[in-house]
Amino acid sequence: MTLRTGLLATAATAMALPALADVNIYTTRQPELIQPVIDAFTAETGIEVNLAFVSEGLVERLKAEGARSPADLVMTVDIANLQQIVDAGVIQPVESEVLTSAIPAELRSPENLWFALTTRARIVYASKERVAEGEVTTYEDLADPKWQGRICTRSGLHDYNLALVAAMIAHHGEDYARDWATAVKANLARKPEGNDRAQVRAIWAGECDISLGNTYYMGEMLADPEQVPWAESVNIVFPTFEGEGTHINVSGVALTQSAPNKEEAIQLMEFLVSPEAQGIYAKANNEYPVLEGAPLSDLVASWGPFVADTIDLTTVAGHRAEALKIMEQVNYDG
Ligand code: FE
Repeated sequence: MTLRTGLLATAATAMALPALADVNIYTTRQPELIQPVIDAFTAETGIEVNLAFVSEGLVERLKAEGARSPADLVMTVDIANLQQIVDAGVIQPVESEVLTSAIPAELRSPENLWFALTTRARIVYASKERVAEGEVTTYEDLADPKWQGRICTRSGLHDYNLALVAAMIAHHGEDYARDWATAVKANLARKPEGNDRAQVRAIWAGECDISLGNTYYMGEMLADPEQVPWAESVNIVFPTFEGEGTHINVSGVALTQSAPNKEEAIQLMEFLVSPEAQGIYAKANNEYPVLEGAPLSDLVASWGPFVADTIDLTTVAGHRAEALKIMEQVNYDG
């Protein structure tokens, strides 16, 4: 894991530049995922961009730096993280026709405080050997006793699973979601441990038949020789909420309250939803572009089309606290 700490130094040097200001980004994403699209922006505009990788404590850092923060933009994943940054009061709205016309309404804040740039679906990885075609249907169905001893998931307290439970609450209410979580826990083959890929490894090893995971992890497994067999032991299946779509989450961007280079930062935000940038950025991590018609990576295209749940992510973020309470009440990880 690379830790880049050069931002303050480069920001200081930039002050000597006469023409264009630099844009400074704090990102919780691996810099190598963002660098290709940043390079394309710099090539097109001449505007330099400094990336600071902030793996922990992004909100605390922004609050501590306050008006003196060099950060113009923050980029992160998961709706709860985006909402947390917004709730901390360190973000300002961006009124941009370019952004609102490129990004569907459910994938941006109604107050224009955060904007999704890519999406990822939370899907089922299903054993090629032990799960029949059509056997996986809905998220609700994961509570069915037919899955007893067959499901593996990572911690129920992880952001990705909390967002799924929050979406379940949004669709069916808190009581339903609690019963669902209780039943899914009862179907687990083992106590939650490890990350999304560790669950696919468990399928490969015969410990369980299906797992929950984000789509892009298929790309990550296929890029790692040790994990290729895990990836090849499963199919990607897109479950849906009953009568609705597949649960998605996002990576996104927001403009800081104190952005020193606001104009250039907005220019970069708008560039990030252009067809060119959307293709580059989504392909970097095998995610889905938010811009309709932007190109997919060959791998992502190979999974076929799916219908995304259209519940807006601000609503999902609003149910996070209840989702956490439920997962603790049902002792999901215990
Ligand atoms: Fe992830």
